[in-house]
Formats: sequence, C-alpha cells, structure tokens
Amino acid sequence: MKRIAIVGGGIAGLAAAYELAQKDAPAVEVALFEASPRLGGIVETVREGGFVIECGPDAWVTEKPWARELAEELGLSSEMMPSNDDARKTYVLMDGRLQAMPDGMRMMVPADLDALDRSELFSAEAKYAYHDEVNRAEELKADAPKYDESVASFVQRHFGDEVLEKIGAPLLRGVFGGEVTELSVRAVMAPFVAMEREHGSLIIAMQARAAAKKDKDAAIFTTLRSGLETLVDNIVAAIPADWIRLSTAVHSLSRSDQGWTLKTSKSEESVDAVMVAAPVDTARELLQPIDARAAELMTMDSSSAVVVAFGFTDAAKFIVPPGFGFLVPEGSGSLLLACTFVDQKFAGRVPQNGRLVRAFFGGAAAERLMKCGNDETASVARLELARLLGPLPEPQVTMVRRWPSSLPQYGVGHLERMVELDERVRRLDGLSLLGNGYRGVGLPDLIRNARAAARQIVEEMKAPGGEKE
Ligand SMILES: Cc1cc2nc3c(=O)[nH]c(=O)nc-3n(C[C@H](O)[C@H](O)[C@H](O)COP(=O)(O)OP(=O)(O)OC[C@H]3O[C@@H](n4cnc5c(N)ncnc54)[C@H](O)[C@@H]3O)c2cc1C
Repeated sequence: MKRIAIVGGGIAGLAAAYELAQKDAPAVEVALFEASPRLGGIVETVREGGFVIECGPDAWVTEKPWARELAEELGLSSEMMPSNDDARKTYVLMDGRLQAMPDGMRMMVPADLDALDRSELFSAEAKYAYHDEVNRAEELKADAPKYDESVASFVQRHFGDEVLEKIGAPLLRGVFGGEVTELSVRAVMAPFVAMEREHGSLIIAMQARAAAKKDKDAAIFTTLRSGLETLVDNIVAAIPADWIRLSTAVHSLSRSDQGWTLKTSKSEESVDAVMVAAPVDTARELLQPIDARAAELMTMDSSSAVVVAFGFTDAAKFIVPPGFGFLVPEGSGSLLLACTFVDQKFAGRVPQNGRLVRAFFGGAAAERLMKCGNDETASVARLELARLLGPLPEPQVTMVRRWPSSLPQYGVGHLERMVELDERVRRLDGLSLLGNGYRGVGLPDLIRNARAAARQIVEEMKAPGGEKE
C-alpha cells in the first residue's frame, strides 16, 4: 500500500488528507505530521461567553466556490452564513476621523460613479481621476503591460496616487500584509489584470460584471455560524484518526530511489510521497538540501499579524459607526492596520445586545507587539481603538493572537517563479507543495490546490502500474 506523508495540519494539509480519505481513493496509508498540539493552523475559533471569536480568518470570499463545496460535502450547508451585506460599509481613517468609502466599491474600483461623487473620502482630483479612467479605456487596454508589475504601479496607472494611498495600500496591507510597491499585481489581483486586458477601464469592467452577475444577492463573504474551526473539526472527523500525529515536527526530508525519508521529532519515516503543507519558510528549509534552486524560488518575505478581539455585553455602551469596520492608511497616526465590527458584519457572533470588535496590527507594529505580553498588547489595542471610537467599556472577553510570519509576500514576478518551482517539483517525483506560499493565501484557493494535489496522487495510483506494493 502506498504511504503518503503530509507535513503540516493547517487548512491546506487537512484538505489534502480529506481528499486522500475519500471512498473512491485507493487505500493509502497516510501520516499527517503537525508540529503543534492542535490542527487548523491559522484557522482557529474561540467560543466564550456567547461570543464567537475568530483568531485568524473570519470568512471566505463567496465568489470562489472551493471552500463552500468542501463545507457542503461535510454536511455543513446549514452552518454556512453570508456576511450582512445590507450593512456593508467600510471606513478609512483620514485626517483623524473615519470616513466612509463610497458604496459599491470592489477593492479600490467603484461600480457606481454617482456614489463616488457623493463621497467625502476623495478630493475633487481623485474623483476626476476615477471618471477619467473610463475615458482612457482604449489607451489602458492598448498599453496593458506584457509583464508583471507592482500593485502600486497598476493602481497608479488607473486611478493615481491618492486612491493608492487612501484605499489601495491599506486594503492590500489588510489582506496580504505587504507593501503595494513590492506585491505582484498578477499574483494578488489577477482578476483585475484580466479586466484590464479585456476592457482597459476597471470601472467599465466592474459595471459589466455587475450587470452580468447571475446571483446579484450573493454576499461578498461566507462563513460558518459556529466559526470556521467547525470546518477544521469536520475535516478531522472525516479522516482516519490514526493518520494524525500531533506535536510531531518534521525536521528534515531526504530522497532516494525508494522514495522519501522524513526525520520527525519522534521517529524516522519512509514514504512514497510527501505533501509539504508547512509554512513556506519551513518548507524552504526542508527542500534546501534536496534542491537548492527550488529553495531559492521559495524565498520570500512573510509578514506577521497580531489580532486582538474585545467582546462587550452591552453594545449601547460602545457605539461604533454602522458597517463592517475600518482601514488605516499608513501615516495616519494610528498603530492599527484595520478593525472589524464583527457583530455588524455577521449575525450570531455575540450574545444578545453584545458587541465584538477585532483589531489588527501588521507590519512594524505587529513585529513590536510580537515581543509584548498579552496584557500589554490588549492595552495598546484598547488605547488605539479608544482614540478613534471613544472610550471602551470593560470587555467581558479579550482574545490576543500572534501569527508570526504568517502572510507570505508575493513579490513582482511571483507567478513566473512558481512556474519554475512547479517544474522542479515535478522532477522530484512524489513531492507536492501546498499552503499559502504559492498560489493564493485565501481559504478557497488553499482548499482547491490541496485537494487537486491529493487527487493527482490518487489518479497516478489508479493508472495502470501506478500502485506499487
Ligand atoms: C490574521 C489573519 C487573517 C486572515 N483572514 C483570512 C480571511 O478572512 N479569509 C481567508 O480566506 N484567508 C484569511 N487569511 C489567510 C489564511 O487564513 C491562511 O493563508 C491559511 O489559513 C493558511 O493555511 P495553511 O494551511 O497554508 O498554513 P497554516 O495555517 O500556517 O498551517 C501550517 C501548519 O504547519 C505546521 N507546521 C509548521 N512547521 C512544521 C513542521 N516542521 N512539521 C510539521 N508541522 C509543521 C504549523 O504548526 C501549522 O499548523 C488570514 C490570515 C491571517 C494571518
């Protein structure tokens, strides 16, 4: 029987294990090594005092079907819940106060230019730049770069500096934790690059998409009522329990004609195939002695995130503006990166009349807070929130999570590097690389890619002569 090792039990490693456990897959012996004592990686939910608090991701993008499909297969259809899009409003900290982004924005692209004109967030020049982008459609299409560029240069070409600074940079820092001048537009904003190729103007493209959208009521985000860790729990329940080896770090990998050998903190294991789903920094170290060029292609900066949540029993004692939360552009005098008004974004996250807010720190602030204790980190978060939202009452629940080097930065040229990396990995028979260092950081992409890699192993085994004794 074929033996397969999975290194890392975050959502990527678990999705791969789930696929290998399907009934139609040939019988395999799988060992999933997870360094920590728990599964799920960055996906973690704390449930306390009636509050449902996400420590990492709080939802997936509805448009991408792969997380939903998995949830449905796991019998979680009734658990799935849309974001409260009727209340969707995002603010930007500007000149010391929270100013609403215009309605109908998709990232930094407005579908509704009238709403844009009514907005106080942008100057007359920025509004003009938006309107002019529509007039420049032909020119933008003709001049669409043949090569990758930074997100900053892409956004500047379309809408100018003000839009980049006020919303482009903070939005991207919120999702990818990185600098727009470094991030690859093709890797992190691929749909927008495709829109430019087809329509030139992103605003025209967005309006065409809105008109063609089949399910006009579909919410932007989907989550699970009891929290995203329910997805993890249900995947784990669908995997044979004896596959899972908790508190077992993989320290090294080596390869021979017979297959792969893993040295873990507890044993030495020989397997036919290995799926590395540990964070990219760890994966790179494991690959270094096997293929130095592959390891070089996996070299990228990763940024850290610190999340602090406060749950209050009486929302009336802590009023926040209506909407999903706010973003903080660089240089606006706050250490925060963003904040979510959780009870307004999703139903069922708080006890009756409760309030739940989640503050995010990234970049240099997150690196500094990484060295502080929980109490100090929570105090900094309280102070920063109070400066913008007014005094905070005593919270009933406080949650602090640090995610060091959790968000890999896809720099300009990332996709070309991944093509070369794929090519090298293919030559290393029996190796797959999964997780958020390669082709997307969001849950749907991670699930799709992990399941596809596992399916490929299964298909190879099913092929004549594919199964070795
Ligand atoms: C604060 C934050 C908010 C986010 N919000 C969203 C969101 O709302 N929606 C969304 O779609 N995405 C979001 N993301 C991104 C998404 O959560 C992550 O990209 C994803 O969870 C990463 O999954 P993974 O399996 O690749 O890695 P991880 O979750 O990091 O799992 C890797 C696992 O490998 C283990 N490991 C490490 N080294 C070893 C070793 N040597 N041997 C064995 N095991 C090892 C680790 O302990 C860990 O459990 C967010 C990310 C962060 C940090």
